[in-house]
Amino acid sequence: MEKSERGKGKHNEYKAHCLLLPLPAQGHINPILQFSKRLEAKGVKITIAITNFMLKTLQDFSISSPHVSIQTISDGFDEEAYPDALISQVYLQNLRRVGSQTLAQLLRRLRVGRFPVSCVVYDSFLPWALDVAKEERVMGACFFTQPCAVDAVYYYVHEGLIELPLGENQVIRIPGVPELEPGDAPSFVFAPESYPAVLEMLVNQFSNVEKADWILINTIYELEHKIIDWMGKLWAVRTVGPTIPSAYLDNRLPDDREYDLSMFKPMTEICMKWLDDQQDKSVIYVSFGSLVSLQGQQMEELAWGLWKSNKPFLWIVRSTEEANKLPENFVGMATEEGRGLVVTWCPQLQVLAHRSLGCFVTHCGWNSTLEAISLGVPMVAVPQWSDQITNAKLVMDAWKIGVRVKLDEKGVAKREEMEECIRRVMGEEEMRANMNKWKQVCREAMEEGGSSDRNIQDFVSCLVSKSMTN
Ligand code: UDP
Repeated sequence: MEKSERGKGKHNEYKAHCLLLPLPAQGHINPILQFSKRLEAKGVKITIAITNFMLKTLQDFSISSPHVSIQTISDGFDEEAYPDALISQVYLQNLRRVGSQTLAQLLRRLRVGRFPVSCVVYDSFLPWALDVAKEERVMGACFFTQPCAVDAVYYYVHEGLIELPLGENQVIRIPGVPELEPGDAPSFVFAPESYPAVLEMLVNQFSNVEKADWILINTIYELEHKIIDWMGKLWAVRTVGPTIPSAYLDNRLPDDREYDLSMFKPMTEICMKWLDDQQDKSVIYVSFGSLVSLQGQQMEELAWGLWKSNKPFLWIVRSTEEANKLPENFVGMATEEGRGLVVTWCPQLQVLAHRSLGCFVTHCGWNSTLEAISLGVPMVAVPQWSDQITNAKLVMDAWKIGVRVKLDEKGVAKREEMEECIRRVMGEEEMRANMNKWKQVCREAMEEGGSSDRNIQDFVSCLVSKSMTN
């Protein structure tokens, strides 16, 4: 096969048509969109369905994927953002009810024409999409955006193999997963009363999974092989990660350098220029993703921890987080003394790939974790909620590519702890060696014949043969 795959399926050469439906959140759009680019490169026409409101948000910033058609469904809130949508029972119920109706209508529209849709790849958080796909007589492929170890915990809860609330000293034992103390479990499992609507959504990922024609997971076989082998006895799971742009992995898809759909405006020029002025492997990059909101005290401790580390830092503080949380004059002082740069959003992949990066202080969102692994940047894990807690455990204990900060009795990582973890992560050669090993594994998984590439190819072959028999 030629090195460059992108665009092979353009125009008249499409062999199948797939509709992909992410949860309307940046951390879910990114992996599903990237997966779709891999399908497109192998000859599949792609339509991504997002909510009407999400389309409006994206239009303000960026939609630059030339090979992907975007269509909309409705969550019932087309004009205005629903406050704290993804943790709200009302929002999630509306998304399910109105989303099901409008997805069915969209599928009916896309079932006619030259390339009718033959499969819906749906975010595992939205299992109702499988019911719609089945009613409309198309295949359904469930796409998990969290690691297999975390998915397995929710499966155990769904099956009643773990009862909630957990006992004080209860250890979660699942084949292939490191033993999880209660404090290592996903936060919604550790504290089921915290966000009941989200817990229900996550446990429900398994409500109809046995009816899915395919189960795709954004992870890498080699990274989680024991748990995947175990899960493979239950369903035909296929690993398809890491879903990051090809330029950072196998480089077979020309021009695939960015995620292309962004809900935030990256301050690219200022960040890259600042990084260019820094020494190799010296910079601490700090980001907590698109959703996390740190408590004020944690922001303050982090700020002074960065300051005490004596290393240059690039810190992403979203505009909604800026007000009243940073110590007074901190940003001005950091800029004046040339110690750090604080911006509202950056092109994270370009940043992680920069030669000046020394470590990544991260919330351990799964995309950020996979990006750090793929680009070989060791992590200081400061997980806040959801799967981040378990991801941090895997980073530290299973893959040994980072350390997780210790918290005080108020749940805050103090400045001395931050400083110490940064020092360890930037100093330990062994961690960097482990990182380089996993970085190579990620690259190979996506190369021609690699574990994820083979799975994606099998999926495409199935789509094509199904399309031909329709
Ligand atoms: N991201 C980015 N610029 C930033 C911060 C984050 O492009 O300044 C991207 C990051 O590369 C990742 C996504 O936003 O792909 C965040 O996803 P993740 O799963 O790490 O966290 P979430 O936002 O879902 O909590």
